[in-house]
Amino acid sequence: ESFSELNLIPELLETINEMKFTKPTPIQAEAIPHALEGKDIIGLAQTGSGKTAAFAIPILQSLWDAQTPYFGLVLAPTRELAYQIKETFDALGSSMGLRTVCIVGGMDMMDQARDLMRRPHILVATPGRIMDHLEHTKGFSLKNLKYLVMDEADRLLDMDFGPALDKILKVIPTQRTTYLFSATMTSKVEKLQRASLHNPVKVAV
Ligand code: AMP
Repeated sequence: ESFSELNLIPELLETINEMKFTKPTPIQAEAIPHALEGKDIIGLAQTGSGKTAAFAIPILQSLWDAQTPYFGLVLAPTRELAYQIKETFDALGSSMGLRTVCIVGGMDMMDQARDLMRRPHILVATPGRIMDHLEHTKGFSLKNLKYLVMDEADRLLDMDFGPALDKILKVIPTQRTTYLFSATMTSKVEKLQRASLHNPVKVAV
């Protein structure tokens, strides 16, 4: 299987080619066709499987048709992972005029508020800090969000981000597409899945 069989827009195919991704990884080959049909997805996959591009590619393809600020929110358990995810979006979206911002703890709130006011398309964040901005940053809301990704959901829950996730789920539109990725399927992850995904397709590698 090759990327050219996945019905991707030329802008993405070109960047994928420049990034030297010669063929989709198993999680990408499984998830991308369902994602392009608009399905919610549960992905059981480890770091190193290519899971980031598996969710970034369909989000970017959909964004191409509907460029709106705060189009996608990706929640990650750690700063390091959040920055890696942002880099993947930046690389894949490099020919699309994509604006991304990383909002994590330990950085200046005012600087981040300024970044948010530039109305990025993709926000990559740790749950606690994005909650802080929803509560304190005037003019920032996620009421137009189209995509929510919870990456490494098992770690998000192990790190006690459950309450922040619940609050975020309450203030984003119910009409959205949601992807949940996790290395393991625990009862906590299943509960989060039931609270946040709608008729999801399960992909596992
Ligand atoms: P991830 O599991 O998302 O952290 O990705 C692991 C690594 O695989 C990253 O360095 C990606 O750039 C790389 N990668 C993702 N998809 C592909 C692909 N289809 N072909 C080659 N490398 C890839």
